[in-house]
Amino acid sequence: MVTPVEGVSRSESQAASTEAPAALAGTGATRPAATEPALLPTQAETTVVEPAAETASPPLACTAPVELTPAMTEGPYFKAGSPEDASLFEDGMAGTRLVLSGYVLTTDCQPVANALVDIWQADAQGNYDNAGYRLRGHVFTDATGRYQIETVVPGEYPGRTEHIHVKVQGPGGPVLTTQLFFPGVQHNETDRIFSDKLLLEIQDTPDGVQGIYNFVIATS
Ligand code: FE
Repeated sequence: MVTPVEGVSRSESQAASTEAPAALAGTGATRPAATEPALLPTQAETTVVEPAAETASPPLACTAPVELTPAMTEGPYFKAGSPEDASLFEDGMAGTRLVLSGYVLTTDCQPVANALVDIWQADAQGNYDNAGYRLRGHVFTDATGRYQIETVVPGEYPGRTEHIHVKVQGPGGPVLTTQLFFPGVQHNETDRIFSDKLLLEIQDTPDGVQGIYNFVIATS
């Protein structure tokens, strides 16, 4: 069950809607009214094939059942109420540009449409914006379960290797709180909560890198 959090702010247009979106537990985000079916049409039992229209991510190979993405500590810097924003990168922002993308899936390899993906992270110098919402934002997956957020590769801070915090929640489902890590970072070995199950797949792009991660979540 999802328990609405207190203090959730809705935009005026959302508040005026006759179908007020449900508050997302622990995130301060509100989900737009569902307009897409939750699941793709039935496919070959265990495999989800990426539609041809999607070109930014590699074909998705998923063999059911898949393990749930491990949960990880929230840490001290989460702030509810992040903006819905697919581009957290700002002109002049230091650091390597990162396009974070992937799918949100069930353990049966079914895409989860309209799932919340909410991230927060340090900037390239290892600093969080605790006053505002710089490098904090959320998106919702499309009908194929895909999400994408533009940001920068975070810097390290004392005791922590490079990581991005994330909350993922399917419609009506529990919130997965976890963190994503970067391959080949020296301090992965000394970060006491690092997990290689949460490593991004990194590919170079003309202006930075692409980081791919597919989340597998519980939906009830
Ligand atoms: Fe952190």
